[in-house]
Amino acid sequence: MTAQEILESRYGSPQAGNFESKWMTLWEVKKEFTWFPKKTIYIHKDFCELLKGAFKDLERLNLHTEIKFFDGCFNIRLVRGSKTVYSIHSWGCAMDLNAAENPLASEGVWSREFINVMVNHGIFCGQNWIGRKDPMHFALVNG
Ligand SMILES: [Zn+2]
Repeated sequence: MTAQEILESRYGSPQAGNFESKWMTLWEVKKEFTWFPKKTIYIHKDFCELLKGAFKDLERLNLHTEIKFFDGCFNIRLVRGSKTVYSIHSWGCAMDLNAAENPLASEGVWSREFINVMVNHGIFCGQNWIGRKDPMHFALVNG
């Protein structure tokens, strides 16, 4: 199954009428993590829980300082370069961080320690992809 098929089977289509009321939440991220560059994030509840755990560990290890810019989460759109495949952002299950220094198809500049914390919390990192990397991209599923 593709990452999109996994999300579709778990949560249904993000364009379904009840998707947002059922799965999305407004996370007041700055209340818990004062260092985060955005006050609130509209995000999938399950992805939010993973990130909360990861952010606590990043903070404990003083790796949270690598996060400088929030560059988007929920956005119903196609994968860049595709005409048919919806982005994981369409389900609110992906977050882009530090996009300017981690452009699509670049190697990415996150430290190995930072990426390891994310991965240990079950978060997939575009910097780890083989082929076209998307190092700004962190997601609930591998896509
Ligand atoms: Zn992304």
